[in-house]
Amino acid sequence: MTEKIKIGVSSCLLGNPVRYDGGHKHDRYITDMLGQYFDFIPVCPEVECGLPVPRETMRLVGDPEKPRLLTTRTKVDMTDQMLKFCNRKVLELETSELCGFIFKKDSPSSGLYRVKVYGDTGPAQRNGRGLFAAAFADQFPLLPLEEEGRLNDAKLRENFIERVFCYHRWKDFIANQASYKELIGFHARHKLQLMAHSPKLLSAMGRLVASGKTLSVEELMTSYFDLLMTALTYRATVKKNVNVLYHIIGYFKKQNSSDEQAELIEQIERYARHFVPLVVPLTLVSHYVRKYKISYLTDQTYLEPHPAELMLRNHV
Ligand code: SF4
Repeated sequence: MTEKIKIGVSSCLLGNPVRYDGGHKHDRYITDMLGQYFDFIPVCPEVECGLPVPRETMRLVGDPEKPRLLTTRTKVDMTDQMLKFCNRKVLELETSELCGFIFKKDSPSSGLYRVKVYGDTGPAQRNGRGLFAAAFADQFPLLPLEEEGRLNDAKLRENFIERVFCYHRWKDFIANQASYKELIGFHARHKLQLMAHSPKLLSAMGRLVASGKTLSVEELMTSYFDLLMTALTYRATVKKNVNVLYHIIGYFKKQNSSDEQAELIEQIERYARHFVPLVVPLTLVSHYVRKYKISYLTDQTYLEPHPAELMLRNHV
C-alpha cells in the first residue's frame, strides 16, 4: 500500500483529552496496529458542537427512535445544538474520502449500538444510538461502521477491516472511470471472497454483471456497489471458507500428486473441525496457487483481502 486508508474515529479513542472529565479512552489496537494502514480523521461531536472540557455528562432520554440529549444533573436539552452540528459535519465528511468509521461505544453522541435511553420511570433501555452516530449512519449507509468494543471480537474485527479494505479498492476502481468491461474483471477478482460471505448475493451480482449492458454504467456501478458492501456484511463462516478452499484445490487436481492433495484436504478438515485457524490451510493453498500460476486464482482478493500482518485469520 502506497497511501494509507482514511478512517473516521471518535476522537477520545485516539488519546485526545476530550471526554467530559478531561480524560480520553486511548485504544492502542486502533492507534498502534490499525494506524500502520489507516489515517485517522478524529471527530468529537460534543466538543465540536461547542461544549467545553470538562463538562456535565449527558444521556439520551425519551423515544429511542427520536431521543433527546439532556445533561444528566441539570437537565439542559442539548439536542438542537447537537443535531445542528451533526447535519453540518456529515456533509463536511462527504469530501473526506472515508472508508470506515470506528465509534466510541455507549456514548449518547458517538455510540453506534445499544446506547442507553432513559424513560420517565424504570431502568434505561439499551436500544438507542448516539445522535452523531445515527446522523452519520444515515448519511453513509454503505460505509463500514464499527465500535471499538466490538473490535475485541476476532470475527467482528476481521469482518469490519475486510470491508474497509474492499471499500477502498472500490473507491480506487471507480476513481479511474471504470467501464463495464473493467467491472467484469473486478467481479472476477472478488468472486471467492464473496463466496466466503454470501453465495446467494454472489449469484445475484453475477446476474447483475451479466445483464450490465442493459443498464447505464452509473446504474450498474451503483447497484453493484450496493450488493458488494451488503454481501460482505454476512460473516465468512468456517463452513463457507471450507467450501471456498475445496473450490480452490479443485484447480490443482491434475498437477498435484495424490499425497499433495491429501495433505491439503487434511489441513482443510483440521480447520473445519476448529483445530487450526484459517491461515493454516490458506498458507498451503496459496503455495500451490503461486506454484501453478493459475491466473484466475492468483488474482483472487480472497487470498489476501487485508494485510497478513494484521493477523486477522490467525484465530480459531
Ligand atoms: S465518546 Fe464521542 S463525544 Fe464523547 S468524548 Fe469521545 S469522541 Fe467525544
